Amino acid sequence: MVDFNDSPAEAEFRAEVQAFLEETKQFRADGKNPGAGFGPKSVDKDKLADYEGWRDALAAKHWIAPHWPKEAGGAGLTSREQAVLNEEFSKAGVSNVGGFGTMMIGPTLLVHGSDEQKAEHLPKIMNGEIAWCQGWSEPGSGSDLASLQTRAVRDGDEYIVNGQKIWTSGAHHADWMYMLARTDPDAPKHRGISFLMFPMTDPGVSVQPLTQMTGHSDFNEVFFEDVRVPVSNRVGEENRGWYVGMTLTDFERSGIGTSIGTHKSLRELLERAKALPAEQSQLDKSEVRLGFADRTIDAEVSLLFSYHLMSMQAANLMPNYEASMAKMFGSEMNQRISRLHMKVYGLYGYLYDPDEKPGETDQASYRYLRSMANTIEGGSSEIQRNIIATRGLGLPRG
Ligand SMILES: Cc1cc2nc3c(=O)[nH]c(=O)nc-3n(C[C@H](O)[C@H](O)[C@H](O)COP(=O)(O)OP(=O)(O)OC[C@H]3O[C@@H](n4cnc5c(N)ncnc54)[C@H](O)[C@@H]3O)c2cc1C
Repeated sequence: MVDFNDSPAEAEFRAEVQAFLEETKQFRADGKNPGAGFGPKSVDKDKLADYEGWRDALAAKHWIAPHWPKEAGGAGLTSREQAVLNEEFSKAGVSNVGGFGTMMIGPTLLVHGSDEQKAEHLPKIMNGEIAWCQGWSEPGSGSDLASLQTRAVRDGDEYIVNGQKIWTSGAHHADWMYMLARTDPDAPKHRGISFLMFPMTDPGVSVQPLTQMTGHSDFNEVFFEDVRVPVSNRVGEENRGWYVGMTLTDFERSGIGTSIGTHKSLRELLERAKALPAEQSQLDKSEVRLGFADRTIDAEVSLLFSYHLMSMQAANLMPNYEASMAKMFGSEMNQRISRLHMKVYGLYGYLYDPDEKPGETDQASYRYLRSMANTIEGGSSEIQRNIIATRGLGLPRG
C-alpha cells in the first residue's frame, strides 16, 4: 500500500508551518488572503499593511523562495516539504508573494545569471521587494513561441528593442520584465533569440491593459519603441536565449496546493449548497448531486497526480509529459467545477458584479468566466495533448 502519511520529520515541519500560520493570523484579520503575486503595487492601499506584514514574515523564514537552495538565500526545502508548505497555505487560504520572480526569473538567474545579475536581483526577489512580468507571447507567437518577432539590435554596449508583447500578466504592476527578443533574424528560429531584462520604467516601454470577459484587466499589451537595454542585462549568451528561457530548475511543480485548494473549495460549495433556502436549492436535481460526486472524484485524481509528480521530484526525476497530464487534467477539471458552481446557484448564478475583485470574489459567474483561460494559459490543452502523445506515447507529430 502506498503510504501518503507524513514521516516524523514531515509532521514536525507541518506543525512548524501551522504555528507560523497561527502567528501571522493578524495579517488576515478580515478573512482575506494577504498574498499577491504581483507585488505591492497590485495591492489596495487599505490592504498594504497586511500585505507587507505577511511578506516580511515570509521573508524572515526564507519562505518567499522555499524551493531555492540555502546558499542562494532560499529555504532549501525538499520537494516533500514544499508540498507540505503549499498544502497548509492552501488550507489556510493564503498565497505566497513571489510570483514570476521566485518561480521563473530567480531560478533562471541561479543557473544562467552573472554574479552581478544575481547580486542585484536575487535579494530583491527573495524579499518580495519587486515584481516581475514575463514578456514571451506576441500577437503572432503563442504556442509557437520561437517564431517571436520582437527585435533587439546590438548598438555598442546596448541593445535597441522594438516590437510588441501581449497577454503580459501583471505588466501594469510590475517593476521589471524578463523577455525574449530576436537578435539574429537569419538564424534558425530557436537559435536567434536572446533573453533580456529591463525596468518597466525605461523610456520607450508602454503598457496597455486588456480587458477580459470578466471585466477585469489582469494582463496587457506591452509596446517597445527604441528601448535601450544594456548588454549586461542579457542573461546567458547572445542568440542562446531560447535555451535560457526554457530552463526548468528544481522548483515545486506538483501543484499540490492547487489540488488541496480544489478539495477545500468543493467542500465549501457543498456546505453553501446545503445552506441555501429551499426555494433556491438545486440539490434535488440529480445533475447537481451527481455533479458533486463526479467532481469529488476529479479532485481526488488531481491529488494523485500531485503525489505522482512529487514522488518523481523526490527521486530527482524531472516530470515531463507527466506534468502535461496533470496540467491538462487540472485545468479542464477546474472548468467542470466552475460549471457545477453555476448549477448550484441556478439562475442566481448568472448575477455578476465585476466590481468585486479577483481573488476576493466568490461569485460563480466570475469563476466560470475566469476558468475559460485555464486551458490556454501556461500552454493550451491541445499543446499538452501533443506532448503526451509524442513524448509520453512515442506517437509521431501530426
Ligand atoms: C490568463 C492568461 C495569462 C497569460 N499570461 C501570460 C504572460 O504573463 N506572459 C506571456 O508571455 N504570455 C501569457 N499568456 C499567453 C499564453 O502563453 C498564450 O495565450 C498561449 O501560449 C497560447 O498562445 P496564443 O494565445 O497565441 O494561441 P495560439 O498559439 O495562436 O493557439 C490558438 C489555438 O490553436 C491551438 N494550437 C496552436 N498550435 C497548435 C498545435 N501545434 N497543435 C494543436 N493545436 C494548436 C491552441 O491550442 C489554441 O486553441 C497568458 C494567457 C492567458 C490566457
